[in-house]
Amino acid sequence: MKLIFLGPPGAGKGTLAVKVVELLNIQQISTGAIFRSAVSAGSPLGLKVKAIMDSGKLVDDETTIELVKERLAQDDVQKGYILDGFPRTIPQAEALAKFSTVEKVINFDIPDSLVLQRLGGRRVCRKCGYNFHVIFNKPAEEGVCDHCGGEIYIRDDDRQEAIQKRLEVYRAQTAPLVNYYREKKLLLDIDASPLVDEVLVIFKKALGV
Ligand code: AMP
Repeated sequence: MKLIFLGPPGAGKGTLAVKVVELLNIQQISTGAIFRSAVSAGSPLGLKVKAIMDSGKLVDDETTIELVKERLAQDDVQKGYILDGFPRTIPQAEALAKFSTVEKVINFDIPDSLVLQRLGGRRVCRKCGYNFHVIFNKPAEEGVCDHCGGEIYIRDDDRQEAIQKRLEVYRAQTAPLVNYYREKKLLLDIDASPLVDEVLVIFKKALGV
């Protein structure tokens, strides 16, 4: 199954994706995670995108589209994928339509107040990218990832100023994709307010899986 997870930062797209990957045996492709690994590795791509990401703005369409196009050409995603954080602009969606056929776009419906609460308490594993939360999803041992033993840290773009900017960017550049995909009859709205296990139940019911 070829899916897009669409919604504001902090809606729980990445957290649900980890569960759905297991359920449907498909790959998660998170453009944010790919950019973060490039930053950690200090690669040319990482050097190019670090300041943009830290400020909460979007990486340019050309760079992002090229990255996803290459990833979607690989063998392991031919059976299915979840695009988590892509597309984020109309030009990205138009480009994607030329190199892959998406079956459903899951729209994570969530109020801003909850987004702010989630992003403010989010912690991420530096090694495997798993998301934790200081209240809702604590690791067993403070600062250590339950899944891979990696170090847990606060993303630079989860600071207050960057969070505000990312929400503004979402509203201006990404939210128009909701209507774009609704008109194409691909959109499926899900209530993303509950904790992840409940959202998974809602997702399974909505998709019939
Ligand atoms: P995320 O982990 O999805 O919140 O992404 C973190 C950051 O990576 C974003 O704030 C952007 O700076 C960048 N990014 C991720 N995906 C995209 C995309 N599709 N287009 C442009 N920039 C992106």
